[in-house]
Amino acid sequence: IIDKERYKVAVFSANSLTKRYGKVFAISGISMQLEAGKIYGLVGNNGSGKTTLFRIIMGLSYPTSGYFELLGGHTKSEIRKNRMRVGALIEDPILYTNQSAYQNLNSIRKLYGNRHKDDVISLLKIFELEERSHTAVRHFSMGMKQRLALACALFGRPELLLLDEPLNGLDPSGIREIERILSKICRDQGTTIFISSHYLKQLYGFATDYIILDKGSIVEQLSDRELDRKCSHAIKLDVDHPELAIQLIKSLYPQVEIKRLVDNGIAVYGYNDDAKQMVTILENERIAVKHYAQTGLTLEEYFIQVTGGK
Ligand code: ADP
Repeated sequence: IIDKERYKVAVFSANSLTKRYGKVFAISGISMQLEAGKIYGLVGNNGSGKTTLFRIIMGLSYPTSGYFELLGGHTKSEIRKNRMRVGALIEDPILYTNQSAYQNLNSIRKLYGNRHKDDVISLLKIFELEERSHTAVRHFSMGMKQRLALACALFGRPELLLLDEPLNGLDPSGIREIERILSKICRDQGTTIFISSHYLKQLYGFATDYIILDKGSIVEQLSDRELDRKCSHAIKLDVDHPELAIQLIKSLYPQVEIKRLVDNGIAVYGYNDDAKQMVTILENERIAVKHYAQTGLTLEEYFIQVTGGK
């Protein structure tokens, strides 16, 4: 378990960090602090600067101006040394597709000069690749490859994990599965996770904090609770079979709260999608919706509002 006192201020902090490519500011005066043991979602449209920020943290790119601290390191040589304690998955993962999952992880073990082969086995177990650990990676599904890439990034129990859009291209159940594993690692090992997505909804329910980027600048940083408060989305529906509707909604969206209103009304709280989608689901099950109304913002509407639309 990571001693939170170890970093006096933050696991990572940036001060007016800027990266310019000619006339383009890929990131523009970014300041932030990440606390140990949290899951930070970095959310922004394509081109908002997410990858650039991760590349700078890993030393794959250098800031034009500004500075940052990493795991308590200030100087260039301290930061270089501390990168050994950071796991990263940036852009396309490098996997040797002719080798098995075991061989891929074992090469990383050797690279780290780690003598414990058990660490390879335990990561294969955590990411549920144990049964297929000797199959060549080229035969893996997209989800399995992504789980292996994450296992590689987690070798050596990093204290900070940088994940650049690791959920792209996965189906909803694959996404939930990876989020479940990562949440557990965060809880058990105290790992701080910094994960990007261009889709706020993808990280909803997983991240503990959100940093919203737009055109290279942070437009909002907020906790999961604050996000819920800002969206506080509710739908009121008037249906012909309220009890059936409640059952159906509960089974599809276990996280929502439903209140029975007078007559045939129901109110659904904590459902952050478009109301029309809910109506379609009910009507497909032959529950007629006579009237519906929505209050507050959906996650998507909120995101568009803070990023000024696009
Ligand atoms: P994101 O990861 O959010 O999609 P990026 O960090 O990749 O955003 O890009 C931010 C901006 O910087 C974009 O406008 C992109 O075109 C520009 N950019 C990124 N890398 C380079 C580069 N090597 N040369 C020139 N422009 C770049």
